[in-house]
Amino acid sequence: MMDLPPEIIEIIACLNDSGYKAYAVGGCVRDHLRGVLPHDYDVTTDALPETVARLFPHTVPTGIAHGTVTVVDDGMPVEVTTFRQEFGYSDRRRPDRVAFVADVKEDLARRDFTVNAMAYHPTEGLVDPFGGQKDLENGVLRAVGDSSLRFREDALRSLRLFRFAATLGFQPEEKTCAAALQSAPLLENISKERIAAELQKTVCGAFADAVTPLLQTGGLAFLGISSSAPLTRLTQLPPKKELRLFAFLYCCQSSVSVLKTLRYSNAIVDYAGKFDRLLKGEKIKSRTDIKRALRNFGQEILTDFFGFREVFFGESAQPLLRETEDILYKEEPYRLSQLAVNGKNLKSVGIRGEAVGQALDFLLEAVLEEPQKNTAPQLLALAEQFKRNQ
Ligand code: ATP
Ligand code: MG
Repeated sequence: MMDLPPEIIEIIACLNDSGYKAYAVGGCVRDHLRGVLPHDYDVTTDALPETVARLFPHTVPTGIAHGTVTVVDDGMPVEVTTFRQEFGYSDRRRPDRVAFVADVKEDLARRDFTVNAMAYHPTEGLVDPFGGQKDLENGVLRAVGDSSLRFREDALRSLRLFRFAATLGFQPEEKTCAAALQSAPLLENISKERIAAELQKTVCGAFADAVTPLLQTGGLAFLGISSSAPLTRLTQLPPKKELRLFAFLYCCQSSVSVLKTLRYSNAIVDYAGKFDRLLKGEKIKSRTDIKRALRNFGQEILTDFFGFREVFFGESAQPLLRETEDILYKEEPYRLSQLAVNGKNLKSVGIRGEAVGQALDFLLEAVLEEPQKNTAPQLLALAEQFKRNQ
C-alpha cells in the first residue's frame, strides 16, 4: 500500500469518476517504494489533455502537444500526462511524433528505466510490467526494452543513467551500462539546458562518483569534461549545487566557462568565477586576509571555500570558520559601508572628487588591520595624513 497525498488521490478519483483510467507514475512510485518521500508526483491517464483541462478548474497547458497539463487545484501542482507512445527520434533530441494510447503499459514501455516505469493506483495497486520492483529491491538500473535502441533514440538517457546511479546509489546493469556509454557521444545533439539539469542532479548525488565511467570513456568530452580518476572527494562536500558543480569541474580540470556553455544561471556562473579566483589567489592565513576575502567574495563563498580546502587539501576548516564567525560577530569592519566616515565627511578635511574613493580604500585598509581605528576622529586624522602624502 502506498500512501498517496490527498491531492493525487483526488485527481485520480476525479478522472476515474469521469470514466478515465489514471495512475501515479514514474519517479514518485519509485521513491515511495524505496521509502523516500517523493518531491513531486506525476499522474498518467488515458484522458486527452483537452479533457483533463476541462475536468479541473485550474490547469496550465504545460505541454499540450505532448499530452501534459498541470493541475494546480490544491496548491501542489501536478503534471497529468496522457498515456503516450513515442515514434522516431531522427534528430536524437525528441520524438518526431507522439501518439496517445489506451493502455498504461504502452505508456510505461516508453519510459527509460524499469524502476521509473511503474504506475500505481490506490485500489488496483502496482502496475509493473518490466520488473521494476525487483530491480528496485536489488538496486539495479535497467533500460526498458532493447537498451541499445533506447539510448540511440534519446542520448539524454545516457546521462540520466548515471544521474540515477549518482542519486540512488543503484548499479547500472551490464548491458544497459555498455549501451549508455556507447551512445553517450550523441549527447552532443541534446539541448544544453536538458544536459545541465541532469548534470546538476548528478553532481549533487550522494553517490556522485558513480558518473566516473561516463567521464573515463569520454562521454562528456564534447563539453571539455573528462576525468580518469574517480571523483570520490566530490561526495564529501555538502550537496549544494554551485559548490558541487565547481568542485566537479575542478576534479575534471575543466574550465568554469563550461557552466556558461551549459547556460547555467548567472548566480551559478558568478559563484564559480569567484570561487576560481579565491582558489588561484593568495592563501588565506591571517585575520586580515579573511576580512579582505569577505570584502571581495562575501561570507557564503568564503565559508564554502574553507570546506572545499578541507576536503581537497586536508586543511582543517574549523579555525578559519571560527575566526570568520568572530569577525562577523564583533562586526569588525571589512566593507566601505562599515567605515565610521563617508565621502561627505571627507570633504571637511578637503578631500573631494576622485580622491574620495582612494581615501576611503586607504581607510578601509587601515581598519582591516586595526578595527579599533574605526572611529570618526581617528579616520579623519588618517585621511588628513593621506591627503598630505598625495
Ligand atoms: P526525480 O525524482 O529526480 O524527478 P524522475 O524519475 O521523476 O526523478 P523526471 O526527469 O522528473 O525523473 O522524469 C519523470 C519520469 O518520466 C521518469 O520517471 C521516467 O519514467 C520518464 N522520463 C523522463 N525522461 C525520460 C527520457 N528521456 N526517456 C524516457 N523516459 C523518461
Ligand atoms: Mg520528477
